Amino acid sequence: MLPDFRLRQREYLLEISRAMSARLDLSSLLELTLKSAVEILAGQAGLITLRRNDGSFIPQASIGLPYQAVPLFEPLWRDLEPERQRGGIPDMALRLALASRAAGVLMRQVVALPLEIGDDVIGYIFIFRSRGAAFSSNDRQVLGAFADQTAVAVHNARLYQQVTAERERLNAIIEHSGDGVMIINPYRIIQTWNRALANMTGIPAESAIGRPCYEVLNLQTRQGTSVCHTACPLVNAPEDGRLYAEGIHHRADGLAITLADNYSPQKNEEGFLTQIIANVRDVTRLQEAEEMKQTLLSVISHELKTPVSIIKGYAGTLAREDADWDEATLADGLAVIEEEADRLDRLITNLLEASRLQAGGFKLRLSYLDLADMARTAVENLQATTTTHTLELDFTRDFPPIRGDFERLREVLTNLIGNAIKYSPDGGLIKIGGMLGKNNTVRVYVSDEGIGISPADQERIFERLYRVDNRLARQTPGTGLGLYLVKAVVEAHGGRVWVDSTPGQGSTFWVELPVGNE
Ligand code: ADP
Repeated sequence: MLPDFRLRQREYLLEISRAMSARLDLSSLLELTLKSAVEILAGQAGLITLRRNDGSFIPQASIGLPYQAVPLFEPLWRDLEPERQRGGIPDMALRLALASRAAGVLMRQVVALPLEIGDDVIGYIFIFRSRGAAFSSNDRQVLGAFADQTAVAVHNARLYQQVTAERERLNAIIEHSGDGVMIINPYRIIQTWNRALANMTGIPAESAIGRPCYEVLNLQTRQGTSVCHTACPLVNAPEDGRLYAEGIHHRADGLAITLADNYSPQKNEEGFLTQIIANVRDVTRLQEAEEMKQTLLSVISHELKTPVSIIKGYAGTLAREDADWDEATLADGLAVIEEEADRLDRLITNLLEASRLQAGGFKLRLSYLDLADMARTAVENLQATTTTHTLELDFTRDFPPIRGDFERLREVLTNLIGNAIKYSPDGGLIKIGGMLGKNNTVRVYVSDEGIGISPADQERIFERLYRVDNRLARQTPGTGLGLYLVKAVVEAHGGRVWVDSTPGQGSTFWVELPVGNE
């Protein structure tokens, strides 16, 4: 039979290892160890110091000592390690005497053992007696088992802390990455969904995690077929080996965004797929810019080509030496050439203005000007281009001069009146009027009896390059830049522009501008 204290020691050690596997926090574990060791060695107090990164030792747990007195026991462990390494046997009795005096707590006997992991001393355990006999070599042996157990516990706890800290650091990197990051398991179930991705899609991590990515991202083509179901690179390995998918994601708030996903599969040492990290980027703007570039190119090539070939055709015909054109034919031909040249001029002006606006080099040159007068000139010029439309002026008498950019506001009027003519193919009345508005503003309108604009298109016609998709618009020359510039110029003046329209009956474009002469 084992002696009684051996039995108890075994029980204590068992309890400590149970506590260790239950992942008790380190300080509770150290206290438990101290309590058991003090009891089994019939001591009155105990102390554990641990080594810090800088090599110094600090008290980490104590029992039976006044809390404030613990640091004053420092003479016990000061330079203990170097002394031990030099092979000296530390005079613990002297150290204890010094420490006891410094701390004002009388302890008569001490036994100290290093906590070792391999050759590394990671701390010390001290057990004290305030009365009774000195510690025996048997006591030291008993304490040795506790010291070993404690060293392993501290080591494990530190490893665990390190792993946790590393994991937290990684999580923080993923969470705060500017790109969307999604981690999915081999069954394509979402495990991680970072903040950027939540912002991009409007789907919070709580709703995404645990669901299949093809359900949550649900990428689609422009035609509405599912990219995730028909072309997921994780399912149908692509020929070029590039794990990439791109498609439209419809957000719950109605916004459609284009997402580009790059997948990188992670395998374990045996080569089995463990997870897939997907880098998700919102490429909506990029794609829009690309489409815009294409549209702009085709618009330019088409729109510039038409007037140029008309001008060339007429000029060539009129210049033929073998023909003898009468006055009227000559005049008609020259009028067409002039008209087309004007159209070209407007087109080029619009293009230049649009690119200036985009490049941010858009500055107003302000002066006092008479909009009613400007409208009169525009009406005279444009009336000459049509016989089916009647252009009428309707400015109130009290219409004041305003401060504005003459050239740019003339473009606004020309664009609006030009559109009124273009989009009323059956002719009709076009009115250009103006009146005083509220809060020191003026309002100018251009109304027509043309095809009108549907409510859905009314919101979009002021966008760059936007053209309504109908037969007339397709047959009518245009770039979709006119109204974009109108809006930009009016807003640069601090004003606003909007449209009232009933499809089939006509449209009225309104421009409100501050008088700007306070
Ligand atoms: P565009 O060069 O195509 O005329 P705009 O930016 O001036 O470009 O106009 C954008 C679109 O708005 C046009 O394509 C046309 O469909 C529509 N629109 C503009 N003005 C009118 C109008 N007065 N009546 C009907 N539709 C119009």
